[in-house]
Amino acid sequence: MSYPYPYPYSSNPEDTERFLGIIEKHVNRLEAIIEDLLNLSKIEQESEKEGIALVENRISEILQSAVQACHIKAADKEINIEITCAESMIAAVDPSLIEQAVVNLLDNAIKYSDDGSIVRVEAAQGEGEVIIAVQDQGCGIEKKHLPRLFERFYRVDKARSRQLGGTGLGLAIAKHIVQAHGGRLSVESTAGKGSTFTIHLPKA
Ligand code: ATP
Ligand code: MG
Repeated sequence: MSYPYPYPYSSNPEDTERFLGIIEKHVNRLEAIIEDLLNLSKIEQESEKEGIALVENRISEILQSAVQACHIKAADKEINIEITCAESMIAAVDPSLIEQAVVNLLDNAIKYSDDGSIVRVEAAQGEGEVIIAVQDQGCGIEKKHLPRLFERFYRVDKARSRQLGGTGLGLAIAKHIVQAHGGRLSVESTAGKGSTFTIHLPKA
């Protein structure tokens, strides 16, 4: 059998194994993108149609399970995640969606921080709102990127993000989740120092 150059044909089992590894990596990446896009359109559809169902929930429980979901990634980098949240704090939310939004922010905080650093998740009562802030001491983001940061597929450092396995959908999903709650997502960041992403939820 002959293949036109540069088709990577080889009868060498080691090459075959290597190509299969590359194919597997891309399949996994595509699967992650498809799953994220489906998630995103589901949230959009639900919030456009009848709106998502909001139920009073304990914020500390949501934060604990979000941290739990990220603990392996954090432990791999010896990153400590500290939660500050009054047990009594309650807000009307869809708990699995808010957990997803916090997980996406934590995932970034871990991914874009050095080993051994600290990530803080803090919930507080603001004026007419409940805020959940995820703060890291990571690489930070230059000001010029901030206006486009929440767009689908937007990544600051494409090479680095790709290497870290990012598709650029995490923040777009978090933003949509928060908007579906009638709230907003904001960011403050200093390049080289760290970032704080804040979920603002209106009080019922
Ligand atoms: P995905 O979340 O889809 O796996 P991703 O992490 O690259 O991929 P987003 O979560 O949408 O995508 O983030 C978009 C970009 O914003 C990232 O690629 C990164 O450049 C930047 N970014 C997000 N969070 C942080 C952070 N905490 N510190 C520094 N840069 C960040
Ligand atoms: Mg992300």
